[in-house]
Amino acid sequence: MDKKFEIAVIAHDGKKADLVQFLNKNQAILHKENIKIIATGTTGGKAEAAGIKVKKMLSGPLGGDAQIAARVAEGKCKMVLFFKDPMSSHPHEPDINMLIRICDVHNIPLATNEATAQLLLNALTLD
Ligand code: PGA
Repeated sequence: MDKKFEIAVIAHDGKKADLVQFLNKNQAILHKENIKIIATGTTGGKAEAAGIKVKKMLSGPLGGDAQIAARVAEGKCKMVLFFKDPMSSHPHEPDINMLIRICDVHNIPLATNEATAQLLLNALTLD
C-alpha cells in the first residue's frame, strides 16, 4: 500500500462544527488522495463522532498543537488546516504561533480559514 499523505486538522471551539462539515464535504478528495488525518484531541473527537477516521493528538491547550508542530518539523505532516476563531482568545496562543512558525520554517502549506483550506485540498487533486 502506498504511503498516506498526512494532513493535520485543528479547529478552535467556535469553528469545530464548520471543520467537521468541511471534512464531510471533502470525503471524496480525502479518500482519493490517500490522506491520513491527524487532529488535536477535541477536534478529532468531534470528527470521529461524525464518522471520520482521525488520529488524535492531545487537546490543543494540553500540547496537541505542539505535537502537530513536531510532526511538521520531522517531515511527517505535510499540510495543516487550522480553522482559527479570530473572535476568541486562547490560553495556548504561544503554541499556536509556534505551529504557524514551524510551518513557515519547513515550507508546509498552512490554512487558517476554510476558504484557504478548500483551495489547498483542491490543489492536491491537480497533479
Ligand atoms: P482542541 O484543540 O481540538 O483539543 O480543542 C484545538 C486548539 O488548539 O485550540
